[in-house]
Amino acid sequence: MEKSAELLNISKKVVLKIGSSVLSNEKGSVNRETLKNIADQVKYLRDTGKQVIIVSSGAGICGVGAINKWDRRGDINYKQALCAIGQVELMEAYKRYMKEHGVVVAQMLLTAEDFRDCNRNLNIRNTLFTLIDEGVVPIINENDSVSVEEIKIGDNDMLAAYTAGLWNADLLILLSDIDGLYDKSPKEHENARLIREVYDLNTLVDSIEVGEKSAFGTGGIMTKISAAKEAGKHNIPTIIMNGRIQDVIVKVSNNDETKATTFLGFDIMSSR
Ligand code: ADP
Repeated sequence: MEKSAELLNISKKVVLKIGSSVLSNEKGSVNRETLKNIADQVKYLRDTGKQVIIVSSGAGICGVGAINKWDRRGDINYKQALCAIGQVELMEAYKRYMKEHGVVVAQMLLTAEDFRDCNRNLNIRNTLFTLIDEGVVPIINENDSVSVEEIKIGDNDMLAAYTAGLWNADLLILLSDIDGLYDKSPKEHENARLIREVYDLNTLVDSIEVGEKSAFGTGGIMTKISAAKEAGKHNIPTIIMNGRIQDVIVKVSNNDETKATTFLGFDIMSSR
């Protein structure tokens, strides 16, 4: 059995990050089928006794879909406006698909400052724990309309890692448009090799080649490595898997899908 399957089976508290690359289709609008499938998989995780926090990107793409233009996409204020429009669309879609499973969702929009400030930190923590106790699924995103460069977390991979640390999660899952971490970008090199398990992040960084991020992605593979490092500080393992594969989380936990990258590097299996 793959480490990813083993970890999924023993973890109870799961932070699930969904990348823009997963939610967008070729036309640059949000892929509702995928979003619905994510809601189905959250139901699966909960049915197997897990608690789930979602960190979701995709507000910008939803914003583009809502107003049907993105000509000023390079302009930061326009981008923030798109995210403000799209966040409502995104949450509406999550709310609808989760409701089909009888699950209530809650929105939390956060910035880096919220994690740095002790009081805010405590408030986020308390809110998260209360929501989870009530059986609600929190859906977190960066608060783009207030996040100017100085206070930006920068990418939801890191936001998800901070959240995992704050909540004492057992596992961080990063869903992307790629099966995992490769020794070089698989979109640019046919012979790229999937790295299934990572134990030493520091040596790893020197041995891989980082290519372009996806068309709608923000951080690229580097922020996923940084997120795994951040989560690792709290002894939380990270799995990158391909969110474009239907039911990927179910398949990985049943060992039916064996392509994924698991970041370990500490004695996680024996500490459970
Ligand atoms: P997301 O929206 O899921 O956060 P990103 O576009 O930010 O996705 O990051 C994932 C992308 O990183 C993939 O689409 C992949 O093409 C690219 N990438 C570049 N180098 C690598 C590598 N060595 N291994 C895996 N993916 C890589």
